[in-house]
Parts: sequence; C-alpha cells; structure tokens
Amino acid sequence: MKMSHLFAPTLREDPGEAEIVSHKLMLRAGMIRKLAAGVYSLLPLGLRVIQKVSNIIREELNRAGAQEIFLPVLLPSELWKETGRWDVYGKELFRVKDRHDREFCLGPTHEEIITDIARNNIRSYKQLPINLYQIQTKFRDEIRPRFGVMRSREFMMKDAYSFHATEECLQKEYKNMYDTYCRIFDRIGFKYKVVNADSGIMGGGFSQEYMVLADTGEEEIFYCEECAYAVSSEAKKSDNCPKCEGKSLNKTRGIEIGHIFQLGTKYSEGMKATYLDENNEEKPFIMGCYGIGVGRTAAAAIEQSHDKDGIIWPMAIAPYKVVIVPANSEDPEQMVMAKKIYGDLNHEETVLDDRPGRLGMKLKDADLIGFPIKVIIGKALKDGKIEIKLRKSGEVKLVEIGKIVEEINDLL
Ligand SMILES: [Zn+2]
Repeated sequence: MKMSHLFAPTLREDPGEAEIVSHKLMLRAGMIRKLAAGVYSLLPLGLRVIQKVSNIIREELNRAGAQEIFLPVLLPSELWKETGRWDVYGKELFRVKDRHDREFCLGPTHEEIITDIARNNIRSYKQLPINLYQIQTKFRDEIRPRFGVMRSREFMMKDAYSFHATEECLQKEYKNMYDTYCRIFDRIGFKYKVVNADSGIMGGGFSQEYMVLADTGEEEIFYCEECAYAVSSEAKKSDNCPKCEGKSLNKTRGIEIGHIFQLGTKYSEGMKATYLDENNEEKPFIMGCYGIGVGRTAAAAIEQSHDKDGIIWPMAIAPYKVVIVPANSEDPEQMVMAKKIYGDLNHEETVLDDRPGRLGMKLKDADLIGFPIKVIIGKALKDGKIEIKLRKSGEVKLVEIGKIVEEINDLL
C-alpha cells in the first residue's frame, strides 16, 4: 500500500469528544469516525485491525472444533418473550416494529435464537455435543455510550453457544473454550487475567471474564500473587484468596474483552428445548456460551500499549506491520531504494510512504498509526546502510542494504 493512496485521515490534535486514550488514538490515527452517539464507521486501518482480530478468533475456534454460523440481526420478540428477557432487558434492547406492527429487536446476544435452532434440529443425544459461533454486529441501547468502540451501541462480537447431554460434557467444553481464549489472547500478545465473575443478565451458573490489564481499565480486579485466582469486584466475597489461606488479594485494573459462561439449563428449560437421551427420555439441553468483544479487543490493545506519540500495536493485529519512509522524497536514490525494498516485501503488510513533505511529519504519522517496524532510508544510504527502528522498544539498527529484506522478514 502506498501512503499517498491510503485513506487514513490522521488528526494532529486530540478530538474533544474522546475521553480515553484508545478512543482518541483511533480517531487521530484515522481508524474510525463517529456517525452518531455510540455508532462508528470503520475506515481502512480500523477495519484491518478488526479483521486481524476476527481471523485469529476464527482460526482458534475452528481448531477447537466450533463451527461458524451467521444469525440474523433482526430478531422476533416471540422468542425473547419465551425466556422473559423481552421485559428483563429493558431499555437497553433496541426494539423495532415492522409494517404489520410485529415487534422485533436488534440482537444484543443470541441465546434465544440458537436455542430455537437446537430444539428444532437436534433430536438425539447422538447429535451432541455441538458448539456454534458467529462473528457479527450486535446492538445495545446504552444509556450513556462513550469511550468510542469500547462502549458503543453497535459493536462487533464473537458469540459461541455449546449444547450438551451431560454436565461433564459441558465442563469439558468449557475448559476447551477457556484454553482456546487463552490461545487467542496469547497470540494477540495481551497481558491479561481470567477472573471469576458475576453472570449478570445472562443468568445460569459459573462464569469467568478475560481482563486485559491496563491502568485505564474501567473495572477493578482482585488477584492472588501465589496462585492463578482472580475475581471481579462484583463477584468478590472476601479480601483473602479462597485457595491460599490468609493470603490477601491484590488490586489492579482491567478491561473486559471476553466472558465465558456455564448456562446450564436456564434457556433450554425456559424454551422447552429438549433432546432424547439414551433411554428415550426428553431432557433439556445443558448449555454454555462464550463471547469476545472484537472492537473492544482492538481498543484494549491500545489502552494496554501506547505512548505520547501514538499506538504501539502488537505485531499480530497491527493494521500494517512495516512502513518504509524515504527521508527525502526528492532524493532519487532514496526513492529508488524505497521502491525496491517495497517491491521485495509482502505488500499485504507494508506501506511505502511516498508522499512529498518533511521526514518529521511522516515519522509522526508512522508513530501515531503505530506500525511496529519503520524502515528509514536516509543519509546512511551513501554508506550502503538503511535504518530499522522498532516502535515498541525504540531500538534502532543500521542494516546493510543486501540484508535489509531478510532482517525485516525475521522481525515479522
Ligand atoms: Zn491464591
């Protein structure tokens, strides 16, 4: 991609509407633009990050045996009335009527819909277990949408639902999803904790949240230094670790990006969703559900990793991994070399800053957008060398021209 062609309208100043750093930087880096309160358009750089997060999620869920589906956004009220959530959800549910005065909502979550599919299509224990997921736009009419894509009214989620004949089978899949989420967040490069949580409006039994650690996080987390135990402030019952006697819990802050639930039979009993067990008896499905906020994941990466100059993307979800910057766009030798290196690298992950203008301006944009690797072609070219600068560590290396492509590819 050439920078002169890339639609990334960067801003020099902090936008007044933004309260937190991820929101400010996503606006300033030209990743997103606001359409209405809590409703954002994704521009090319924003979409690329969202797609990279989605691809990691998809790869790991497929590997874990889940199957991708795609459910409607427009959901008939009848199913929501079966579980009582049409009333319980209150004003956060976006409600619409069609021309025949039939009531619908814009889905904030899909337990009712997936349970309806299961009861109509799964008859026997032999068809179990099954885990179905989707990556899709969700809606929630937040009373006070804020923090950009962190707490918006329209947002991208991965939601998965599993169906089981036995409690043991649910436990096994819950552990499978627990491990899968760890692989996803490890691949992205997060520092995070898994905390015991309150299930809230989802109901059911045990649940855990995946919290990205960040000083700016909106939630308090309590954790034990001796073991892996961690708990959210809503679910905390004691100041001490329940596993390590007498050990008091430490406090930190985090951003919730994932939540896994053991739902049990809450939805299947409410909706009379049953299968036939090996004795030919009707039994309600035992269910689990597993969510990841895709937009939140991108925003949390920025909250966890940024500096005064801009975003410091983890390599795995950077919109582009490499930017090539000729120091003087009017120097023909530098431009020829820049184009040659660009030609030798993977165009999918490389931006060539071919714009006229000062080096300082180009480097400012590069740091704001957060390319992990800057390749700067400047005065050292006369000595046969090119500079590589790493966004995260600030480390600078002078590399011989003949080794530059190999050196960059080793860093990817
Ligand atoms: Zn402990």
